[in-house]
Amino acid sequence: MDHPLKGPLLARFYSTEPSLQKEDSDFKDGKGFKGHDMLAPFTAGWQTTDGCYAYDANGKRYLDALAGLWCTALGGNEPRLVEAATAQLNKLPFYHSFWNRTTKPSLDLAKDLLETFTARKMAKVFFTNSGSEANDTQVKLVWYYNNALGRPNKKKFIARAKSYHGSTLISASLSGLPALHQKFDLPAPFVLHTDCPHYWRYHLEGETEEEYSTRLANNLENLIVKEGPETIAAFIAEPVMGAGGVILPPATYFEKIQAVVKKYNILFIADEVICAFGRLGTMFGCDKYNIKPDLVSVAKALSSAYMPIAGVMVSPEISEVIYSESNKLGTFSHGFTYSGHPVSCAVAIEALKLYKCVSILPLRKSISHPCRERNIVEKVESISPRFQDGLKSFSDSPIVGERHWLDSWYRVTDNKSPNDPFPSEWGIGAYFGSQCEKQGLLIRVAGDSIMMSPPLIITPPEVDELINKYGRALKATE
Ligand code: PLP
Repeated sequence: MDHPLKGPLLARFYSTEPSLQKEDSDFKDGKGFKGHDMLAPFTAGWQTTDGCYAYDANGKRYLDALAGLWCTALGGNEPRLVEAATAQLNKLPFYHSFWNRTTKPSLDLAKDLLETFTARKMAKVFFTNSGSEANDTQVKLVWYYNNALGRPNKKKFIARAKSYHGSTLISASLSGLPALHQKFDLPAPFVLHTDCPHYWRYHLEGETEEEYSTRLANNLENLIVKEGPETIAAFIAEPVMGAGGVILPPATYFEKIQAVVKKYNILFIADEVICAFGRLGTMFGCDKYNIKPDLVSVAKALSSAYMPIAGVMVSPEISEVIYSESNKLGTFSHGFTYSGHPVSCAVAIEALKLYKCVSILPLRKSISHPCRERNIVEKVESISPRFQDGLKSFSDSPIVGERHWLDSWYRVTDNKSPNDPFPSEWGIGAYFGSQCEKQGLLIRVAGDSIMMSPPLIITPPEVDELINKYGRALKATE
């Protein structure tokens, strides 16, 4: 069946064509937008944001339960971020970071980031503008590293089905979502995909989470052995899978996967683009799951999305090899005009301050602290029971299949059967999304999955509002 809106979809291309109006019946008949396109703001145009709210061109107010695209962790109008950007724009709006000079904000941010990441020691940061560029950079760094070590065949990457690592040629190749590959001649041949760790959907009858994790680790090992361990350079994983459907790792998963990867001398890349900076109730996803990566990608909440910035953190071992090879060959020839953009870095430094007040707070709980109210990680811990309990109250809904939540992150599957992943491209998920929009609630729909990741500054009354709107949309969908 042809897609009813075939042709250049408005949601992906800018154009002057008038917006397509969608009716409830379109969704019911399976003629609505596909899940993700349905939420495209191109129809209305966002005008302003305020805390956890976004306003469209008609002045309608939406509670943004997705934090933009899982990124505006500090909400829509954080004055300290605006002030940081303005001050830097007035001082030095741009200078590049090529050759041997850079700007103070980029140096300060690198230092801050390295200090903030404590799962293991990281030595250096490479700044990019987006998560996709960060993951492309990962591949180039790893190839350069293995070439420098005289291992020219150790070049393949293993990623996971349903992962999302970006949209450039390489990062889309790493991603495990078929829509990113079809008709794009992807994935590139050096990328292999192993199992998606979605226990509910893929476990065998009677299999426990631990047994399932063991099976997945065995499958990974078999793949490595079949391909030849000397050809596999790195394994990349999001601590919690995001765009693929908020998929949490089953018990003991990362412990077992890391053991396999280590055994075959394969680098571990943590794609923290969504998970970092409090989303999982810890500063990084690696802290939550005891992951000891060799390389880390960060983006999104790094600047709370106020300015585009992303980065790659590199372990001392890798940094040393790259450094000494560059001493022989000349500059490490990779970089972007806007790498370490001073305004983006200034904003990110301020965002980190707001997140990081946390690390000293366990000692100072009773003391009034200037950023006490921004104690983001602790705030996530305290607000998440309200969020989760509210959503649990819908367990009996006939359209709720599986629910998964983790701190401030949530997904629900409206398909009762685990055996048929993403069956209803234009179906009930999209309809539910349209009902949420009607209620003034922004969520994300992917096939049969409904996902939410509200700004981390969300307050208890806003959580209640979210739950009420969600409940009304659910009733309208049942
Ligand atoms: N990695 C992960 C885990 C992501 O979720 C995303 C975007 O959603 C990316 C990478 C790509 O980041 P960007 O859209 O900034 O290129």
